[in-house]
Amino acid sequence: MLRHKLQCFDCQREPAASEADFRCTICGGLLEVKFDLKGKKKPAWDHRQLSVWKYREILPIENEESIVSLAEGGTGLHRCRRLGRELGLQKLYVKNEGENPTGSFKDRGMTVAISKAKELGKKKVLCASTGNTAASLAAYSARAGMECIVLVPKGKVAGGKMLQVTMHGAKIIQVKGDFDQAFVTALELTKRRRELYLMNSLNPYRLEGQKTLAFEISDQLDSKTPDTVILPVGNGGNISAAWKGFTEFQQLSIAKTRPRMIGIQAEKASPIAKAVKRRENKIRPVHNPQTIATAIRIGSPVNWPKVLKAIKESKGTAETVTDSEILEAQRQLATLEGIFVEPASAASIAGLKKLKTNRRVDPSETIVCVTTGHGLKDPSILNRLPKSQTGYSLETSDQTSIDNIERAL
Ligand SMILES: *Cc1c(COP(=O)(O)O)cnc(C)c1O
Ligand SMILES: [Zn+2]
Repeated sequence: MLRHKLQCFDCQREPAASEADFRCTICGGLLEVKFDLKGKKKPAWDHRQLSVWKYREILPIENEESIVSLAEGGTGLHRCRRLGRELGLQKLYVKNEGENPTGSFKDRGMTVAISKAKELGKKKVLCASTGNTAASLAAYSARAGMECIVLVPKGKVAGGKMLQVTMHGAKIIQVKGDFDQAFVTALELTKRRRELYLMNSLNPYRLEGQKTLAFEISDQLDSKTPDTVILPVGNGGNISAAWKGFTEFQQLSIAKTRPRMIGIQAEKASPIAKAVKRRENKIRPVHNPQTIATAIRIGSPVNWPKVLKAIKESKGTAETVTDSEILEAQRQLATLEGIFVEPASAASIAGLKKLKTNRRVDPSETIVCVTTGHGLKDPSILNRLPKSQTGYSLETSDQTSIDNIERAL
């Protein structure tokens, strides 16, 4: 494992790390893990299976005995020819993060952050979540034998995610309001109780795990960098982690270039996309964010400084999509490619369609859309499907009924 340190993302100093909220004790900025990769050669990892821990030399864990794993990463990068033809794109790929152990990319970050928590001797972990972080943390803390507390917005978590959290035995606190209120409560609790270890994406160790998304994309394309990578954006941890990953591969001379990063948000929960469109260097939080894509229903994204920097440095952009565009894209990906993702994930596809229509992507580009979570996470979508898709019902098995059904085939 290569040497690393915690550094402030804003003032670049190395503050005494405040674990309560992972903020710089000097300026209040976000923290990040820095590896000194200048002049370093690529570690000898080519023979290892594709996974988060394939890249352990540049993950912030001191010794391998600390690793708590459920075999995360190694997800498919699927060439999507049928969807590509539909959208008029020649080289479209979907990196399907729903293939992770608990069904979302959150597992990449959680395996690293839980391993770090174990290394630091932590016994109680806590997070605020729209569902997937909670499901992932509940699973990994169970695996590590730690106590787990999750704060979720009351009545707003998708059914599959709630089932996971319950099944893994986490202590669930339902907070009235949105994710943003749950997050404020979680921060307050970690300040009051020092034994609680915060596992939100403010925790820079989580983002270290998530950067392996970029490493895998690069490896799966034989070190050729895609032109454009498109991700749904909620708190903005994932898009900034992916950008960090592409940057580190360039520093190690594994990749020559870095892709354009494009973030997609739901129209009524889009503080980052709005800031990008207005060319502002700060976000204006959205009160009472609304979208069917609950995983990105966030009005005040904590990682916004990292996201704006990633988009700017990569000459990328951000776009918004409506709920009906999201649902349409979700169905299209499922029917044309056999890939079933949750609504937030389909936002990346919906966003790509909009960008193509507005000629902001080129038909010959290599494009990777990241689909962040599995479709089974949110069964409530069944009620939103058109009648023609939910099947015929057969009341009796008499000949006339069967005749009628045969005609409809
Ligand atoms: C967490 C999550 C997101 C948003 O990721 P951020 O890192 O918060 O931007 C998007 N989609 C799904 C399915 C998620 O679970
Ligand atoms: Zn600082």
